[in-house]
Amino acid sequence: MSQIPEAATAVVFDKCNGPIRVDKSHKVVQPNELAPGEVLVRVEYTGVCHTDLHAHKGDWPVPPKQPLVGGHEGAGRVVAIGNGTTTTLKEGDAVGIKWLADSCLNCENCREGQEATCPLAETSGYSKDGSFQQYAVSFARHLTPIPEGLPLEIAAPILCAGVTVYKAIKQSNTKPGDFVVISGAGGGLGHLAVQYATAIGLRVVGIDTGADKKKLLASYGADIFVDFKEHSGDGALIEEVKRVCGGVGPHAAIITSAGGAAYNDALEYLRPHGTLVAVGLPPDTYIKANVFFTVFKALRIVGSYVGNRQDAVEALDFAARGLVKPMIVVEPLANLASVYERMEKGQVAGRIVLKCFD
Ligand code: NAD
Ligand code: ZN
Repeated sequence: MSQIPEAATAVVFDKCNGPIRVDKSHKVVQPNELAPGEVLVRVEYTGVCHTDLHAHKGDWPVPPKQPLVGGHEGAGRVVAIGNGTTTTLKEGDAVGIKWLADSCLNCENCREGQEATCPLAETSGYSKDGSFQQYAVSFARHLTPIPEGLPLEIAAPILCAGVTVYKAIKQSNTKPGDFVVISGAGGGLGHLAVQYATAIGLRVVGIDTGADKKKLLASYGADIFVDFKEHSGDGALIEEVKRVCGGVGPHAAIITSAGGAAYNDALEYLRPHGTLVAVGLPPDTYIKANVFFTVFKALRIVGSYVGNRQDAVEALDFAARGLVKPMIVVEPLANLASVYERMEKGQVAGRIVLKCFD
């Protein structure tokens, strides 16, 4: 068994909006303290998702546990397995800690493969401590095996951003050749959505702002970029999106932006029978759909919440085959507070991944 210290580094906040502390003597759960079903993971890399920032700000109707170690894009190795756990995992295996930490696997939702909506679901870095630490406890039945050969820092962003957008595309009712708008295309989720969509043959229109994000998206073959700041006011964005999608708008719009404005525009620019896939989670935001036009244009509005265990395996497989490659900047774990500041200002293109050990 690997050497497991009594204490290690974790990044913690005691209360939403309170200070973010780097705790270098955070207790590590010891192998004999693991319950059946639990696994101790030595986390090597962890992506920073905008959801972690929402959790710190207490943005959502149900607040997170407090104090909280956030993080749900953890990639590391199994170092201990609780006695009495039935699993094929072994010490040393590369595994991913995703948002959905656990679900019962036995309710109607779980049996249908809709594990995220299990009434007993637990979430990493929200209802349970997550991956912003060197040693994290998670659940054997929801850890995702990471293909050998895929670098762990590349796997990390797939575990939330990747699987979420991969699933959202599955829900978008599109076929190869269709136009899909990715709104928030330069962010963590969006830049991966562009790559998955391109990989399966969709024609991608990215909406975001700034030269950096435009350049990033062009490198992935996103056919068209619309800068939302250059087309603000009086329906200008709606007209531009319709124009670049054959004059009639896209077949689907996947909204991965963390701001609310993008939702209502999408209902206006979608073509008849178009699908709005809601992914981004801005606080206190409502989709205002005019009933007449929703019916008259036969629109679909779909909420998409992460993905199941199989979606996670499939999403990682795209990365292992080199079809999808997260654009990452690696920084030390202690930088979390500074990453949140940059993310809040929309300054992060792609994903920042934190390295948990020096
Ligand atoms: P991010 O901060 O990395 O990216 C958001 C992007 O949206 C930025 O590039 C920003 O410039 C862009 N943006 C802001 N306003 C915009 C607008 N009006 N139009 C177009 N683009 C705009 O965030 P992220 O980590 O990619 O997360 C995005 C959102 O998705 C968050 O709200 C997060 O909580 C949510 N999320 C949802 C799920 C799910 O299961 N549904 C899973 C993970 C994350
Ligand atoms: Zn996330």
